[in-house]
Amino acid sequence: MRYRSYTVKNFRTIPQVEKYLTEKQKFDIEVVGQVFPFKVNNYVIDQLINWEDPLNDPIFRLTFPQKDMLFPEHYELIARLLKNGEPQEKIREEANRIRMELNPHPAGQKYNVPEVDGIKLHGAQHKYKETILFFPKQGQTCHAYCSFCFRWPQFVGINELKFAMKEVDVLIEYIKRNPEITDILFTGGDPLIMKTSVLKSYIQPVLEANIPHLKTIRIGTKSLGFWPYRFTEDEDAQELLDLFRQIVDRGYHLAFMAHFNHYKELRTDVVREAVDKILETGAVIRTQSPVLRHINDSSEVWATMWKEQVSMGMIPYYMFMARDTGAQHYFGVPLVRAWNIFRDAYKKTSGLARTVKGPSMSATPGKVRILGVSEIFGEKVMVLDFLQGRNPDWVGKPFFAKYDENAMWLDELEPVEGEEFFYEKELREMLKLEEEKV
Ligand SMILES: *Cc1c(COP(=O)(O)O)cnc(C)c1O
Ligand code: SF4
Repeated sequence: MRYRSYTVKNFRTIPQVEKYLTEKQKFDIEVVGQVFPFKVNNYVIDQLINWEDPLNDPIFRLTFPQKDMLFPEHYELIARLLKNGEPQEKIREEANRIRMELNPHPAGQKYNVPEVDGIKLHGAQHKYKETILFFPKQGQTCHAYCSFCFRWPQFVGINELKFAMKEVDVLIEYIKRNPEITDILFTGGDPLIMKTSVLKSYIQPVLEANIPHLKTIRIGTKSLGFWPYRFTEDEDAQELLDLFRQIVDRGYHLAFMAHFNHYKELRTDVVREAVDKILETGAVIRTQSPVLRHINDSSEVWATMWKEQVSMGMIPYYMFMARDTGAQHYFGVPLVRAWNIFRDAYKKTSGLARTVKGPSMSATPGKVRILGVSEIFGEKVMVLDFLQGRNPDWVGKPFFAKYDENAMWLDELEPVEGEEFFYEKELREMLKLEEEKV
C-alpha cells in the first residue's frame, strides 16, 4: 500500500471528504487545523472511518479536527481571518498566540533532563528511576495525528524544548553510569515513523554496548493503529521485524507499547497480520490509551477493546487521563467518570485483561491513579495512589481528596485533611533543585 497523507492544506482533495462532508464541516476543519496539528492518511480514511456517519465515528473524531476543540472566541478569530483572506503569516501569528494560551508544556516536561559531564541530553528524560525516555530526532512525527495529542506543540513547531537528540553515545554513557536504569523507552512522536535503517542506528549501538543492567527495550508507537503496513509490506518491514528478533535474541525484553484508542483499530486484516508478525519475533505487545470524550468514553468500548487485545495476544497496560493541555476541555473526562468507565469495563473482563492500570494522570509529581470513590465517617472522598513517583517511596500509598465530580486533573483536587497532599512539600523542594539545574 502506498502511503498518502493529507494535512489542512490538501484535505479537501480526499474523495470521502468531498463526498460526505458539508461545506461548513470542511470550513470548521480548516479553522481548527490552523491551530492544532492535523494529518491523516489513506489507511485511516479508507479502512477505519465509517464515512456514512463521520460525526459518530470514533476514528473520524480521533483524527479530524472538530469545531469545539477551540474555545468560541478563538474559533471566531481564526474563522474571521480566513474569511477575510488574510495572509498566512498573520493567521500563523494569531494561531501561535492561541497555542500559547493552551498550556503547551504540561507536567514539567522540561525537568529531569539527564546530564553527563556537563553535557545535557536534550531529547531524553529520566523521571522515574528504572526507565529513561529517549526521543530520537527523526521520530518526532506520526503516521497521522491524534486530535487530543499532548505532544502537539512539537508538531506545530513551537516546542522550544526540542525533545529530540542524536547523541546516542552520550545516552549510552549515561545509562552505564546509572545502574538503576533497566528500561530504555524509545518514544516520539512515533519512533516507528523512522526508516528501519535510522532506527537501527539508535538501537544497535545500545545493544552493542552490552550494558549489564539494561534489560528492556521499549518502543512506544501508534503505528499499529495508523499504519500497520509498517510491519507487513513497507519496503523495510522485514528488516524491522529482523531488528526486533535481533533484540530478543540478544536476551533483551522487547516491549512494544502499542497505542490503541478504540476496538475499531483492531479489526482490519492488515492490523491482525501485523500483530502476528510482531509477536513472532518474540516481542511482547502491551497496549495503552487515554480515555477521551467523543472517542472512547464508555465501558463497553474499553471492555471490548481489552478482550479483543487479549485474544490477539496483547496485554492491556494503561488507561490514561487526557492531559491538561490543548483541547483537554473538549476531550477530557472527569476523574470520577473515568474511574466508573474503568471499573465497569474491568468488571466485564476475565482476569487476563486485568493487567491494565488506571485511570492514571501523568502529572508533575508522577503517575497518579484514581483508585475510586469511598466514604470516611459519612464524607465522600476520592482515593488516589501513585503508580510512578518522582520519589519511588510515594508509590502504592493510598491518599484521599475531597470528592469532586467535575475535577479533571490532580491540580483541581484538594486534600481531605490539612493544607496539601502528603507529597507536595517534598515535590516543591525537588523542583527547586531541578530549577537550579535548567
Ligand atoms: C509512563 C512513564 C514511564 C514508564 O512508566 P511505567 O509505569 O514503567 O510504564 C517512564 N517515564 C515517564 C516520564 C513516564 O511518563
Ligand atoms: S500517535 Fe501519539 S504522539 Fe502521535 S499524534 Fe497520536 S498521541 Fe500524539
